[in-house]
Parts: sequence; C-alpha cells; structure tokens
Amino acid sequence: MSITDRLNQIEQTLPSEVILVAVSKTKGKDDIMEAYQAGQRIFGENKVQELVGKWEVLPKDIQWHMIGHLQRNKVKYIAGFVTLIHGVDSMRLLREIDKRAAQAGRVQDCLLQVHIAKESTKFGFDGTELAQAMEIIGQGHLPNIRIRGLMGMATFTEDHTQVRTEFQFLKSLFDTFQKTDGDFNILSMGMSGDYPLAIEEGSTMVRLGSSIFGSRNTT
Ligand SMILES: *Cc1c(COP(=O)(O)O)cnc(C)c1O
Repeated sequence: MSITDRLNQIEQTLPSEVILVAVSKTKGKDDIMEAYQAGQRIFGENKVQELVGKWEVLPKDIQWHMIGHLQRNKVKYIAGFVTLIHGVDSMRLLREIDKRAAQAGRVQDCLLQVHIAKESTKFGFDGTELAQAMEIIGQGHLPNIRIRGLMGMATFTEDHTQVRTEFQFLKSLFDTFQKTDGDFNILSMGMSGDYPLAIEEGSTMVRLGSSIFGSRNTT
C-alpha cells in the first residue's frame, strides 16, 4: 500500500477531534511530500538536526513537532519555527526554551512529558514532579512558554491491560490540570502499535510513524 492509501485509511478511523502527527523521522523528502500531497501538514521528528534540515527544504506551511528527547544546547536551532515540543521533561529545559523563544519573538507551545512506562529508558516527569512543575509554571515566570498539555509513551508490550493502565494514569493527570487552564487541551499519547487503545482512553493527538510510512531502517 502507498503512503497516501495508508494515510487515508488511518484518517478514516480517527475520530475527527484527534490530531494526527505523521512521524517522519529517518524518512526522506519524497515520502514526506507524498503525505503532504495527500493533505497532511503536521509532521513529527525526534532529532534536531534532521528536523532543521527538513524544515529548510520542505514547504513552509508544514507544522513541525519535536517529539523526541530534546537537549538544552539544541533548543536554539528550533526555537524560531517549531510548532509544538512534545518531550519537555525538566524545568531546566523549559527555562532554556523560554529564553530562546523570547529571543525569537515567539511564545512556544510545549507539552510536558510524563514517565508512564515500565522501561527506565523512557523520559519524563513522575506524578509528583509534574505537580511541582505545574505549580512553578503557574507562577508565571516563563512568559514565552505556553503549556498545552501532556505527552507520554506506554511500555512496549503486548500486554494491553498494562498499556491501558498507563494511558489511564496519564489521562487522569491531564484531567487534573485541564480543569484550571483553557490552553491546556492536548493529550499526546498513542503510536502505531497502541493508538486505538490510546484513543479509547482519551488521547487527543496520536504520533504515527510506521503505520503511515512503513517500517524504518534502524541505524
Ligand atoms: C518514533 C516515535 C513515534 C512513532 O512510532 P511508530 O511506532 O513508528 O508509530 C511516536 N512517538 C515518538 C516519541 C517516537 O519517537
């Protein structure tokens, strides 16, 4: 099946309020342009250098999302254009984003990443740290940051009960903070292997790579 066919098929199954991020990491311009021609405008990348390289050469109405782990020393390369940063996992990173967004004359939309998986290799705040971060952010010292919601990655497992429990935990945190803030309305959860479950549990944004573009060549 072509990228266009896969994209159309996925879009037919997504509820209209769920936003699709096409994860184009490792994929070339031609694949991205095929998805673009099919109407897709939101693309996700997980490496700063790759993201910048693609932003430079591809149509300017693409909205680029940084979905991967972001190092503080690389924020400056994307602060001028990135639409949404999904993986904010520390206050130090958030302060750097605020500073670079100010220099670029922008207010940067961000999601706070929560560690919901069993794997310790995955990043993010735990529940307590998240509450502390939200408290500090609420004090208003980061004028060039807008926290739009939460992002999480479930454990890579066939155990659906486990994955569902993790998504439910993230959704419960999301509900807690959404009550107090109107801009806080994005819950980024669900990848190719688990997005139907994520949507059942309240996801508003799914990040799909292989189900659109086919499997990636791992390097
Ligand atoms: C690669 C990646 C995805 C997409 O993964 P697929 O399984 O190919 O859909 C989603 N989110 C993050 C953070 C990723 O790094």
